[in-house]
Amino acid sequence: MNIDELKVLSDDAIIEKVAVEVMGWRTRKSKTCKWCIIFQAEDDELGYCKLCRLPSCYWNPLTDWNHTMEVVARLKKKGIDFAFASYELEPPYTATFNISRDSLVSDANPRRAICFAALRAVSFIPV
Ligand SMILES: [Zn+2]
Repeated sequence: MNIDELKVLSDDAIIEKVAVEVMGWRTRKSKTCKWCIIFQAEDDELGYCKLCRLPSCYWNPLTDWNHTMEVVARLKKKGIDFAFASYELEPPYTATFNISRDSLVSDANPRRAICFAALRAVSFIPV
């Protein structure tokens, strides 16, 4: 997906895409709530839901810097380095991964800029 296609996605869709395409997690739906998405991480079950806000397992790299940095660490492990800057421009936050200049993304939310850059970056990893 190019950046214009990514920027129109809902938060739910962005979070699920990052979980699957960057973190490499499998996802499944909850049996009890149609909004819940459960992520099967390596040694943990995490989730996202715009209604339930699952307290112990809530994973949202768009709002929680700890989760955003897990995304950065995941790509770093594959040898893909990260750069981040803030400018007196609108939008102010710019993130990029060194795999391609086309992963450079700016956004008003720094965590969102990083998630978009990560989604762009994985599209350049040779399969
Ligand atoms: Zn739910």
